[in-house]
Amino acid sequence: MKDIPLITPALTGETPFARNYAREVLEIASGRGCRVKDTRGNSYLDFGSGIAVNALGYGDRGLARRVARQMRKLVHVSNLYATPPSLALAEELLQLASPAGRTPFQAVHFGNSGAEANEAAIKYARLRAHHLKGPGHHNTIVAFEKAFHGRTLGALSATPNEAYRKKFEPLLPGFTFLPLNDLARLDQAVTEETAAVILEPLQGEGGLESPSPEMVELLNRISAERGVLVIADEIQTGLGRLGELFGSTLIGLTPDIITLSKPLAGGLPLSATLIPPAINELLQPGDHGTTFGGGPVTTEAGRYVLERITAPGFMKQVRQRANQLDQGLEELRKNHPWITDLPGRGLLRGLRIDLGPDQEELFPAILPAALERGLLILRSGSNVIRIAPPLIISPRDLQRGLAILDTVFHTISARRHQ
Ligand code: PLP
Repeated sequence: MKDIPLITPALTGETPFARNYAREVLEIASGRGCRVKDTRGNSYLDFGSGIAVNALGYGDRGLARRVARQMRKLVHVSNLYATPPSLALAEELLQLASPAGRTPFQAVHFGNSGAEANEAAIKYARLRAHHLKGPGHHNTIVAFEKAFHGRTLGALSATPNEAYRKKFEPLLPGFTFLPLNDLARLDQAVTEETAAVILEPLQGEGGLESPSPEMVELLNRISAERGVLVIADEIQTGLGRLGELFGSTLIGLTPDIITLSKPLAGGLPLSATLIPPAINELLQPGDHGTTFGGGPVTTEAGRYVLERITAPGFMKQVRQRANQLDQGLEELRKNHPWITDLPGRGLLRGLRIDLGPDQEELFPAILPAALERGLLILRSGSNVIRIAPPLIISPRDLQRGLAILDTVFHTISARRHQ
């Protein structure tokens, strides 16, 4: 076990923010590379990337230059007009996402957040069902247990977590939740009434589970043969996080709609809903819209991010780091037998923790213990520690973060035996 000294994090005390966030949080002042500094000057290695957003880490000079240049030129015009960056980013996304041999995606709706991208996808799916089958009840959306699609009322309606939903009911009608990878249930649940199935290629918030190859095959058949749209929520998995540009490619899924957000604009708010001709042809001006979505600054940032992650060698490096992470996690599992599973792919990985009777007390203690040793990590679901470092992480930083985790886990083991 390495000796990693304890630090005293700059925690805020009660913040002036609404209490739907933690009352006491780390106050971060700056960042560079894979590290951030708090207001006391403590440095933290970030294995969370601002919840899988900061693919290029912190303080990227190229991003700052491009955004500053665009800010001097033009900041906002509304969607009554187009701008060179918004047109260019839309074209680039369509080209990157359209697989060879399939109907290409035809259009992009830009929004400001992941939830908004899914809202658009849900509206489009219902619009198409309405068009094909007429008004009525042909608008069911199938989603999966432990999925997370966002917190706005529409996206929340596709998110089964009772803790997020209960206090805000009634939500939208017409959503059905199925266990992931239950083929018979899925086959049965998709009926004449179904407009779409929505899923994540890997469940980022719900424990990092993925659909099985058999389920992916069934979903592809449902899309091709039954006229039901498959929506891939790639808000967390898209744009390189899993070592492929799209998580759906990695698992063999051929979605009709793709939603993207988190890393898309390098930390600025931007989302994209990619749609096929069959939907685009139905849309009329005014059917959907947003004031800020797809503005010139965020789309210029998006162009920069795409340039970087599609540059030769970038994705190869992500895969190399993913292999290194995989080996490091296996080591941790050997050292700490209460790590029962290592779900996830690429640079979105988890450690499933089973501390037996100490779970309730000690699982929540892991994140603060990592913070005190200078490492930011995340949770996923009720018993998984999630790791999602910036895609640009160096072998050295990755190694250092794994060493901190090892130290933290030793302290947890020690508390367990007391
Ligand atoms: N979908 C997935 C898979 C996500 O991980 C998230 C956010 O964590 C969302 C949707 C919602 O995105 P946002 O918080 O930007 O609305």
